[in-house]
Amino acid sequence: MKYQSFLIKYSEIGTKGKNRYIFEDALTHQIHEHLKKVDGSFAIQKEQGRIYVNCNSDYDYDEAVDALGHVFGVTGICPMAQFPVCAYDELRRQVLEFVKSEHPEKEFSFKVHCRRADKSYPKTSDEINADVGADILDAYPGARVDVHDPDFIVYIEIRKQVNVFTRVLPGAGGMPIGTNGKAMLCLSGGIDSPVAGYMIAKRGVVLEAVYFHAPPYTSERAKQKVVDLAKEVAKYAGAIKLHVINFTEIQLAIYEKCPHDELTIIMRRYMMRIAERLANQNDCIGLITGESIGQVASQTLFSLRVTDEVCELPVYRPVIGFDKQEIIDLSEKIGTFETSILPFEDCCTIFVAKHPVTKPHLNVIQKSETHLRDCIDAMMEKAIAEDEVIWCS
Ligand code: ATP
Ligand code: MG
Repeated sequence: MKYQSFLIKYSEIGTKGKNRYIFEDALTHQIHEHLKKVDGSFAIQKEQGRIYVNCNSDYDYDEAVDALGHVFGVTGICPMAQFPVCAYDELRRQVLEFVKSEHPEKEFSFKVHCRRADKSYPKTSDEINADVGADILDAYPGARVDVHDPDFIVYIEIRKQVNVFTRVLPGAGGMPIGTNGKAMLCLSGGIDSPVAGYMIAKRGVVLEAVYFHAPPYTSERAKQKVVDLAKEVAKYAGAIKLHVINFTEIQLAIYEKCPHDELTIIMRRYMMRIAERLANQNDCIGLITGESIGQVASQTLFSLRVTDEVCELPVYRPVIGFDKQEIIDLSEKIGTFETSILPFEDCCTIFVAKHPVTKPHLNVIQKSETHLRDCIDAMMEKAIAEDEVIWCS
């Protein structure tokens, strides 16, 4: 076991005034949840603006860093040496030992950055910086000090104990899950909606998800693809309750009774109606979609206005202003891209018109929907009642 502890850095949540403890508790809880997947025993300790992960047993370093790297709210992960506050000579010796184990390379530039929370320590930060810097220069003939752009910084913190680290691995950023309510993600098998879910979860929102499938027009494999995507997003967002709604009957009714150039927009309106019903039943206070202005006919500003009209809950569309390539870049970064591009049909791709309306008028669409009035309520009730729940984690 190379490192006995990690210092967990977080920034944004440190600024929340009196509510700060809520954020710190949520973050601690999330770190705990993510580390459950890693072999080993970890203790998480909170101490005045700091969170430490102490490793009580042998563990897999890469797995632990990977797990910590998926916790929203964490901005940096610092594998470190931690030892009791001690005499100055001993402190210098321990710091040098740690630097040697961290940096076997012979030539590098560095600087030392010491902070004392414990001002009673007999040396000032400047003295410690100078002395430790000299120790490193003595030990490494190829080392040089560079205060502006060093290869690494030797951080020394003198608190209730001494923390030393030279690496700050990037965290996932954002806010801890559970600090901002819950929302219902409309999750299709595409590239956009998993990214949309990730972005909202990153702000601390718990995700629940709904997928509309249309067997036998869409296959089990298409459904499995959505489950797999939910699992990928869950690596960041925590376990996701996925509702699978059988949409076939509704889709066929729309196909049969409504003008074909309006199929997509009408279908989208029924999806949103059902998503909102599920949201209300499950304490979700918003809906999330992967829509982006102008990407397809159903996502013009005109279409979005007509889709929105059926929802009372706010609909969050975090990729609304993104170009496709920007969404793809993010999906690659979060690990959903490979699954998203698997070629299984989506229910939207089967019942699409050759020339869908791009400027639907609300009153026209509402009129077309009256063709469904005899059957649609019962169909919606049935679809919701037969909701299949799959927990994805
Ligand atoms: P994505 O890449 O996420 O599939 P898209 O570009 O294919 O999006 P549309 O098919 O128009 O766009 O869908 C727009 C949004 O509607 C999706 O991002 C998703 O939030 C939601 N949506 C579409 N189809 C489904 C479905 N079968 N189940 C659940 N939500 C869906
Ligand atoms: Mg899609």
